[in-house]
Amino acid sequence: MKNKPNQADLLAKCSVCENLLDPTDIVILSEKEQKTTMHITCAKCRSAAIVFLLNNQLGVMSVGMATDLDKEEVASKFDGEAINSDEVLDLYQFVSSGEGDIMRLVKGS
Ligand SMILES: [Zn+2]
Repeated sequence: MKNKPNQADLLAKCSVCENLLDPTDIVILSEKEQKTTMHITCAKCRSAAIVFLLNNQLGVMSVGMATDLDKEEVASKFDGEAINSDEVLDLYQFVSSGEGDIMRLVKGS
């Protein structure tokens, strides 16, 4: 029997330097039935990203977005539910449109 993928598996590595992330590097910003939003900070290269986990009929998908905000700044924005489901879906559609690694897109711009 295969283990069900969980958040730790999906976020096991920093997408910039591939350092293994520690659970303490991950801050859950909001957690709802179908959407988990978290902020990760790599202890090695100090890059930060916001990661959306979407849970729907297609399974669990993760979408990462590099950010300059630290976790306190992001958390303060999330008090007002700054990002809604539609925006997350838009982001997902952008990522899944064949452009590939969003982290690379953000860094390369
Ligand atoms: Zn890193």
